[in-house]
Amino acid sequence: MNISEFYPIFLQSKNVVIDSRKVEKESIFFAFSGESYNAAEKATDAINMGASAVIVEDEKYVDPPNNIFYVPSTLTFLQHLAIFHRDQLDIPFIGLTGSNGKTTTKELISSVLAEKFNVQYTFGNLNNHIGVPLTILSVRKGHEIAVIEMGANHQKEIEYLCAIAKPNLGYITNFGKAHLEGFGGFEGVIKGKSELYDYLKQHRQTILVNENDKIQYEKTDNYSPKITFGAPGSDYFFEPIYKDHFVGINYQGTEMFSNLTGNYNYDNLSAAVTLGLHFGLDISQIKKAIENYIPSNMRSQIQKKGNKTLVLDTYNANPSSMQVSLENFKTFEGSKLIIIGDMLELGEESLKEHQSILEFAKACGFDEMITVGPNFKSVCNSDRAFENTTQLIEWLKSNPVRKENVLLKASRGIALEKIIDYI
Ligand code: ATP
Ligand code: MG
Repeated sequence: MNISEFYPIFLQSKNVVIDSRKVEKESIFFAFSGESYNAAEKATDAINMGASAVIVEDEKYVDPPNNIFYVPSTLTFLQHLAIFHRDQLDIPFIGLTGSNGKTTTKELISSVLAEKFNVQYTFGNLNNHIGVPLTILSVRKGHEIAVIEMGANHQKEIEYLCAIAKPNLGYITNFGKAHLEGFGGFEGVIKGKSELYDYLKQHRQTILVNENDKIQYEKTDNYSPKITFGAPGSDYFFEPIYKDHFVGINYQGTEMFSNLTGNYNYDNLSAAVTLGLHFGLDISQIKKAIENYIPSNMRSQIQKKGNKTLVLDTYNANPSSMQVSLENFKTFEGSKLIIIGDMLELGEESLKEHQSILEFAKACGFDEMITVGPNFKSVCNSDRAFENTTQLIEWLKSNPVRKENVLLKASRGIALEKIIDYI
């Protein structure tokens, strides 16, 4: 099967799925095969469930009369179909990458732009070499803007995702200490994330720049076209405002508060408001979107539980986001407990980074500190250092939390949200 032959079938389809359980009427099912499974086994089932076509990479299951087509690599075909489709779409594509805040910024930007446009955007965190093509293939007739989150944990990944998504406008949320292992240290992070700038510069596309970020500023100095925010001389400038730990911004007298905690979200909000203004929305539309956006994804979320205030930031963690999260929590009034879990994927810098976060946390002067995970445990000489959440849950059953404020922050692999019910 080749792309141009297949494209009309794709255009007639409703969606593209890679999980046979998600097949609906008029889906296209891309059957991947792994070491322990072969999704092609489900090809006929998928057709019986109403799929318009199935792409398999195992010749044994090919059945063209029933629209089960063979390709040598399902992944490559998915990516090439996305590239082909992208080339037919004449709408702005906004590409986002960065170490922290991609998903939050993507959701804020999409919420804002959706007040005026029919926006399609990355679902959840589908930001890799499979997620980006799937997102592009979900952009269909009627969509007016696409917002694409691009994640990476090694060099050349963003370069490749840019070649698929071909962003017309791009933003790097920040350069932080995340995925140090794969990128080869912090300099490697800067280089790897900057592949988005390389693409945009090469194709003379627009860069969105937070001029309050020294690296962003320096990397885009003298470049045009760009849209800037964050510093008094920028195209757009906002004043940060706070209410009950929720972050907001003031733009020329219009105040808008988000439902996000953590002053780092000020940058994320600023990026979204800037793009709203850039794409011609009224400030009242932007305010409505910012105020209505509710994070429900364990990112910078505040949850009241009885008389306690929980800060849930368990979706992810790395040294940069851990530090800003602790700094933010320091500003809460009343007694404070931090429950912090391991930061994964830090490679050889792991123990050093855990040690320095531990010292940073101690210096913050919280009333109580609990750690979860082997990395923290190995650098933390305390009876409140737990190997995993199961151990902590057992302990919490006989040691109920009495502090008024509790911060939960850890990498995804720790699944720290499991303990919420025991607080
Ligand atoms: P992932 O790599 O998992 O896709 P992401 O870049 O999409 O992560 P988010 O999921 O939006 O990031 O946020 C994860 C966490 O990063 C937040 O809960 C918060 O602690 C922190 N964070 C968010 N925005 C920023 C920012 N601008 N600067 C620093 N830290 C941030
Ligand atoms: Mg994300």
